[in-house]
Amino acid sequence: MKVLKFGGTSVGSVQRIKNVANLIVEDGKSKVVVLSAMSGTTNSLLEISGYYRLQNAVGAADVINRMESKYAEIINELYAKEETKLKAREVIRGIYDYIRSFANHPFTIFEERCIVAQGELMSTNLMNLYLQEQGVKVAFLPALEYMRIDKNAEPDFKYIEEHLKEQMAAYPDQLIYVTQGFICRNAYGEIDNLQRGGSDYSASIIGAAIRAEEIQIWTDIDGMHNNDPRFVEGTKPVRNLNFDEAAELAYFGAKILHPTCITPARMYNIPVRLLNTMDPSAPGTMISNSTEEGKIKAVAAKDGITSIRIKSSRMLLAYGFMSQVFEVFDRYKTSVDLVTTSEVGVSLTIDNAKKLDEIVTELKKFGTVQIDTDMVIIAVVGDMKWDNLGFESKVIEAMSDVPVRMISYGGSNYNISMLVKKEDKIKALQSLSKHLF
Ligand code: ADP
Ligand code: ASP
Ligand code: MG
Repeated sequence: MKVLKFGGTSVGSVQRIKNVANLIVEDGKSKVVVLSAMSGTTNSLLEISGYYRLQNAVGAADVINRMESKYAEIINELYAKEETKLKAREVIRGIYDYIRSFANHPFTIFEERCIVAQGELMSTNLMNLYLQEQGVKVAFLPALEYMRIDKNAEPDFKYIEEHLKEQMAAYPDQLIYVTQGFICRNAYGEIDNLQRGGSDYSASIIGAAIRAEEIQIWTDIDGMHNNDPRFVEGTKPVRNLNFDEAAELAYFGAKILHPTCITPARMYNIPVRLLNTMDPSAPGTMISNSTEEGKIKAVAAKDGITSIRIKSSRMLLAYGFMSQVFEVFDRYKTSVDLVTTSEVGVSLTIDNAKKLDEIVTELKKFGTVQIDTDMVIIAVVGDMKWDNLGFESKVIEAMSDVPVRMISYGGSNYNISMLVKKEDKIKALQSLSKHLF
């Protein structure tokens, strides 16, 4: 069975919901369909939460009313039968009543997660009813009853597999299984989520749990492009990526994929295909186990990076210096992306600077600390085994007009990463495209 995930833009209007419904049923095969919230919805739900957090119930009500009217229009247009419209109105009304029930109550991240979860519940309910109206055999799988993360916010695969299979088994002859991306419960049974863009991750986790034949991520572009199309003109789709290349690109900022989405698919060697809902016949990108020898595939950029340089107080890097440094990051649960070292010091980057002050105070015990904020990691990804010749020189040449703070290669066979200032990001991306593709 295949798992198909449709992102926010793919279900972002009545016409798009209808297109997706056609796409799903076309081949007559059974499949799991994972949906994001309609585009804009998650942002609006976060805006509502922002008002509630400030105890501004009127501000929240404004956004809620606007959203509710939009959904009312969608219902009117989407369904042909009055009976289905009534059912849809009832479901959506229930959801907005629930969102309104948070007014004038203490509001924390827990309440925010409950509100943010409503986007995927709305889109899947609308699709479920639409497919029913079209006479399609459809089963609705509530993600909150099988998708779970553990205390470390990692998917609880055993639980997920067991509960998902149990739910699917209750509808043995259903053609289409519709479920929510993004939302889950945590180790304490509370409503939680897989972070922004997490529906890709849901699809991959589900794919792994049911040992799917293929995981398809349907979005608004014809696959992974060789550079970020938001900043570089003339980017082209990459037809094939291996799991490592795709994981590096996603991790280092290629927004088309959630950073951790490749991991579950790779666990069971399930191919992941990136496809375009606006152009379903385009070949897209195939992510699998196979590697195209010696090819540089794509460039991506990750924003919001802080770099930290620690120069050892002693003349030479003494035994134990590195472990002392890393232990500090470990203690503050802050993960490190890039690392470069010299005889006297180490530079590294983090993307979560919440504990920066505490970390710096600790690091100052071992040496002089220098911080650069608003930095960007630029990652060049492809088959770059160290015995392949020439790829480093091409990358360095492309960066000849861009000040580079760090360069890192050798951590994997698949990437060279560089750290630049935010204001140099677009220039770096454009120049790399010009030199590499
Ligand atoms: P969805 O809502 O379907 O999950 P996203 O907005 O999360 O879609 O991801 C698709 C977007 O990712 C594209 O519209 C594109 O602007 C952006 N993007 C960034 N880098 C890349 C890349 N290398 N290749 C393709 N798309 C990219
Ligand atoms: N709706 C969520 C978001 O906007 C998850 C997703 O779309 O993947 O981040
Ligand atoms: Mg996305």
